[in-house]
Amino acid sequence: MADQRKPVRKPAAQTPAKGKAVAPRPRTGEVAAPEPEGYTSLIEPRGAVSDFLAPVGGFGVTLSNMFRPTVTEQYPSEKVPAKPRYHGRHQLNRYADGLEKCIGCELCAWACPADAIYVEGADNTPDNQRSPGERYGSVYQINYLRCIFCGLCIEACPTRALTMTNEYELAGPTRAGMIWEKEDLLAPLRSGMLQAPHPMVEGTTDTDYYRGEVTSSTPAQVAWVQEHRPEDPTLPGGAGLDAANVPGPTAAVMAATVAAATKQGTR
Ligand code: SF4
Repeated sequence: MADQRKPVRKPAAQTPAKGKAVAPRPRTGEVAAPEPEGYTSLIEPRGAVSDFLAPVGGFGVTLSNMFRPTVTEQYPSEKVPAKPRYHGRHQLNRYADGLEKCIGCELCAWACPADAIYVEGADNTPDNQRSPGERYGSVYQINYLRCIFCGLCIEACPTRALTMTNEYELAGPTRAGMIWEKEDLLAPLRSGMLQAPHPMVEGTTDTDYYRGEVTSSTPAQVAWVQEHRPEDPTLPGGAGLDAANVPGPTAAVMAATVAAATKQGTR
């Protein structure tokens, strides 16, 4: 078949207008034209001593730095704490009685520009009250292969359930091991908290919780947990917070991976 493409025309060579002089361009490797007449340089001409020392002048910076204290951080043998507002690993917070702050609204997932968060909400029931109000986050995942630690998720969260810690050592042995589940992300239980699920403090609403008016678990909540989970470690006289605060499976594997890498790095 004949070639249907039109031949490309070369642009016509620019010829200088009649009577106009065109300055010749310096060719590669050629020194540009000298300064125009009447030009005076503001740089003072160097003296003979300066001319002599110029080739070693650059070493002045090196030599002066040799006597300053070193600022190199010896990571991983010495771990320098991050700044207080550093964006590290996420945490799902709890109220002072142990109920979860997350209500499963998915706003964090919608705000995430990297599509790193996946949330599924579910209804609280009298037998399974995990957060104040109607809903709780039943599935919560953050994919740390995608997360860019921008913090837009924590800005979007209406209950301050999601915040970021200063923890920056995140490494996993597999791709699946970089997806943190809810049990990996939940904040540790503190003194006065009871492990969820349990009823809300009597006579309160989710607004009271949000306003910080709940400061600890109550005897009625303790009685409910004693009835439904007599072996709960967070009960008074139970196994204690250390037994309750077991890291989630992904967090545990990641902690072991980081510890092994640190050991290797400090050899
Ligand atoms: S962490 Fe906050 S924004 Fe995300 S689902 Fe839970 S309550 Fe909503």
